[in-house]
Amino acid sequence: MRLLHHLFENNRAWAAEMTRQDPEFFRRTAGEQDPHYLWVGCSDSRVPANEIVGLPPGELLVHRNVANVVVHTDLNCLSVIQFAVEVLHIRHLIVCGHYGCGGVRAALRDDRLGLIDNWLRHVQDVRWKYREQLDALTSERERVDRLCELNVIEQVANVSQTTVVRDAWARGQELAVHGWIYDLREGMLRDLDICVSAAAEPPTFDEAAAVRADGARAGRRRADMVSDRAV
Ligand code: ZN
Repeated sequence: MRLLHHLFENNRAWAAEMTRQDPEFFRRTAGEQDPHYLWVGCSDSRVPANEIVGLPPGELLVHRNVANVVVHTDLNCLSVIQFAVEVLHIRHLIVCGHYGCGGVRAALRDDRLGLIDNWLRHVQDVRWKYREQLDALTSERERVDRLCELNVIEQVANVSQTTVVRDAWARGQELAVHGWIYDLREGMLRDLDICVSAAAEPPTFDEAAAVRADGARAGRRRADMVSDRAV
């Protein structure tokens, strides 16, 4: 019995459609890959990196794990970052979280789910660091969404402190680390206004977190900027 037959059918249809649109596509991309971006995102099935940013195979290197966490001793993630920076020479490293993240929600609620609790302990460390800011919010949904944002900012800081990234900056390599968040409810990406392109001191990240501390104020400021441009 052939298992998951429909997935192979989907694959044949996809490959045929790609070839119809661009007969040389697979021949061209079967050679060396030359992506300009590394995406570090959540494993969530609703956050497909390439589709969200409209990039075809070959243009986006991707690493995903539960709650888009960059741990200083995670050889899996660090190896992807090292390969991306030192071998592929990517110019942009994007840490992208998403609102309504189940991993972040579990970390906030102290849910007991099994082995994964140990992984989510890293997100709970972020929760503890910003507990005053989180406790000031009235609804759980707001707290989850704020922790999703703060988690991205903290992971951007972690990426920026890896030896791979610090060494790249020390030798003058062009590399920017971005913090973005994806809204499942409307399919839109948002920039969290944190972009690090040189060895940064912790205050940089504290400032970014402080902006998230007053989402309404930040929202108004963005709205003012938009209306200024509209004028
Ligand atoms: Zn998630």
